[in-house]
Amino acid sequence: NINTKEDVLKAIENNNVKFIRLQFTDIQGVVKDVEIPVTQIEKALSVGISFDGSSIEGFVRINESDMVLKPDTSSFAILPWNQKKGVVARMICDIYLPDGTPFEGDPRYTLKKVMKEAKEMGFSLNVGPELEFFLFERHDGKATTIPHDFGRYFEFAPADLAEDIRRDIVLTLMDLGFEIEASHHEVAFGQHEIDFKYGDALTTADNVTTFKYVTRTIAKLNGLHATFMPKPIFGENGSGMHVNLSLSKNGENIFYDADGDMQISDEARYFIGGLLKHVKAITAISNPLINSYKRLVPGYEAPVYIAWSGANRSSLIRIPAARGKGTRVELRSPDPSCNPYITFAAVLAAGLDGIRNKIDPGDNREENIFELTDKGLRDFGIETLPSTLNDSAKYLADDELLKEALGAHVHNSVLSLAKAEWDSYRIQVHDWEIERYLNTV
Ligand code: ADP
Ligand code: MG
Ligand code: MG
Ligand code: MG
Ligand code: MG
Repeated sequence: NINTKEDVLKAIENNNVKFIRLQFTDIQGVVKDVEIPVTQIEKALSVGISFDGSSIEGFVRINESDMVLKPDTSSFAILPWNQKKGVVARMICDIYLPDGTPFEGDPRYTLKKVMKEAKEMGFSLNVGPELEFFLFERHDGKATTIPHDFGRYFEFAPADLAEDIRRDIVLTLMDLGFEIEASHHEVAFGQHEIDFKYGDALTTADNVTTFKYVTRTIAKLNGLHATFMPKPIFGENGSGMHVNLSLSKNGENIFYDADGDMQISDEARYFIGGLLKHVKAITAISNPLINSYKRLVPGYEAPVYIAWSGANRSSLIRIPAARGKGTRVELRSPDPSCNPYITFAAVLAAGLDGIRNKIDPGDNREENIFELTDKGLRDFGIETLPSTLNDSAKYLADDELLKEALGAHVHNSVLSLAKAEWDSYRIQVHDWEIERYLNTV
């Protein structure tokens, strides 16, 4: 177990590490890294390594671009691949300004800030994400959208050709300290899911970043392309990242209440109330791409309607059957293209708002919501998630609670990236339009 600076130096020596990759994520959740030779580690650990923040998406303007990376010693891990030219380790970094204050636009800082607020109320958030992804063929080194296998949900070899590669990913993640709970083929051809054990929100956000990095790397080493794009193929299920959530207080899961209705506590209910209240705005963060909204449509198991339920998988928020320690709230809208730090920060802030203000989530819905008519939806007062990034961004712009919780810098950056994405998309002329109109209009 590595925690202190001394632990890191010892691990470097024991494993003959030659290079260290210093990693952080931009506002969009893209992993960035600089590699330093091991000779620079003392400096990195004491004063940090400078970099130009103006070239990172969503960070700062040119005139205030000097920033400093400081590695989090507890994130030290040896990368198990490509060791021929020397062992490489990675460390996840926090971002500081030259004067030593934390940089407010750092997604990791944002999450820590909201976690601190939770801690003041005695709470710690646990998150367990379920990441789905596609493995596609590469032709002449270039990514295609041709699925690498023709397996379906829970199928195994020979249909599930990817079994060996998935196991390779799982073994690599285990080398990096992940506790893997399960891995299986998903519904679509070429689609997979790997589940790892939940942890506190910061550890899990770091893990999501590492997970994506490992999956892409191992796929590439096997001549394949792994993608976390939410909806790569029309007419097939997209990839989600369900987020399982619980709050603990003094080590106890406070969402469980043996005597409560459905055996869940008032806190769990209010937390859901807060999620439901802010979920339209959260969507701009948890579903940040134009393509994210191609997944959030009826008919492919992705949530569309804003409701909560027990085990019913047709609603946005579900309470899986486990009770006791495993009592949790599952939010099913996020997809794996989101920035996990900002997403967990927003989800936590919304849940805390629910608890503080005792927000009533309304009745749980146990019918198959996908089968309700428009009238049925109206009668139950069930609303829908925003159907475009432009819409969800409007909800986020108006959400004062999230603006306050995330900080103006991150709130602004997310909104301007969403606007740029939308502006670039809306002026395109799509193949669909040509097919539909060219000959008939
Ligand atoms: P599903 O039934 O929705 O497919 P999975 O079994 O794939 O669910 O994933 C469940 C996730 O929930 C795992 O990451 C697991 O570690 C996590 N989990 C279990 N208990 C808790 C808890 N108390 N708080 C948060 N996450 C939890
Ligand atoms: Mg699952
Ligand atoms: Mg599962
Ligand atoms: Mg799944
Ligand atoms: Mg799930």
